[in-house]
Amino acid sequence: MARLKAPIGIFGGTFDPVHFGHLRSAFELKQALGLAQIRFIPCGNPPHRAAPIAEAALRVEMLRCATRKRPGFVVDDREVQRPGLSYTVDTLDSLREEFPATPLCLIVGMDSFLSLPKWYHWQRILDLAHVVVAHRPGWQAPGDGALGQLLTDRGTELVADLHAAPAGLIFVHEVTQLEIASTGIRALIAKGHDPQFLMPDCVATLIREAGCYGSAPGKDNET
Ligand code: ATP
Repeated sequence: MARLKAPIGIFGGTFDPVHFGHLRSAFELKQALGLAQIRFIPCGNPPHRAAPIAEAALRVEMLRCATRKRPGFVVDDREVQRPGLSYTVDTLDSLREEFPATPLCLIVGMDSFLSLPKWYHWQRILDLAHVVVAHRPGWQAPGDGALGQLLTDRGTELVADLHAAPAGLIFVHEVTQLEIASTGIRALIAKGHDPQFLMPDCVATLIREAGCYGSAPGKDNET
């Protein structure tokens, strides 16, 4: 069999807005798993949650500035370009077509992993990609049930296994716990506070310029 290329990480989310919790996790996973790149894929129309507040174009722009000059960080807007609901399995199908000989590593938080059986055509996901579960605070890996069984059957603790097969394995990895969430950032901005040190400065600037999330001049910087 032809040698596979280095794996690609796929980091989906609403990124409404992107913050250091996302960026630090992506960076650590890229290093730890020897990923050739991480593709940040903002969701167009999420099937399982309310529509994002920021326009898709702004969420893409925020990601682009947050990842500029970061080697291997790629913004991929295929979901916002695609009409209809943004199903992960459709995204993986199109990535598999584009990268036939490359392992794909779908990165999900433990919270998302626990809801995997509710995802559209979830059983096909492991045919198309590995699933890399990033630990978040307060979440336990399932020990029993369908997901516990799946972890037993498909789990691996070896990074080399992710490089040796194009898809099909589950790898759980702990990332530095930064308790930052977009929801909290949106609430903070709506109250007129400055989100600095939670996200790159260029993202905060874009939010301010767009007047997004009810942003007004930051009252934290008044003298
Ligand atoms: P919201 O508060 O709007 O739900 P969020 O901050 O959880 O947003 P999303 O864009 O929904 O961000 O998340 C995209 C992915 O990033 C998900 O897999 C999620 O588990 C992960 N993620 C979000 N916040 C963090 C964080 N602080 N540390 C590590 N991973 C995170």
